Amino acid sequence: MLYEFTVQSSRREEFILITGEINRILAEAGMKNGSCTVFIPHTTAAVTVNECADADVAADLLAFLARLVPASGAYRHREGNSDAHIKAALLGTSLHLIVREGKLDLGTWQGVFLAEFDGPRRRKVKVWA
Ligand code: ZN
Repeated sequence: MLYEFTVQSSRREEFILITGEINRILAEAGMKNGSCTVFIPHTTAAVTVNECADADVAADLLAFLARLVPASGAYRHREGNSDAHIKAALLGTSLHLIVREGKLDLGTWQGVFLAEFDGPRRRKVKVWA
């Protein structure tokens, strides 16, 4: 079944932890064991799994992506947010995750993040569970 929730970002670029929201959906869905798909229907935001224990990891990822993909450059896209589109493409729009005993089966330090690259905006996240 398809579920959806929204996330309000507060900065142009940030990582927002959404593990708890996905686990709430899995509980609502009554899924015990299996897998789920997390999809973000946007072109300047992404979903990714990485460390959630130390917030400096997300800060380092954002800083590295900013060095890799400069905010301005020889881009053709007239909206002026090509860097956000490229960063979103690098991280991707969907995740396929294992569900065990009613929750995401993540590693000890892993969390699921919405990666915002052109906020602040209201973002949708879709979960098939
Ligand atoms: Zn654009």
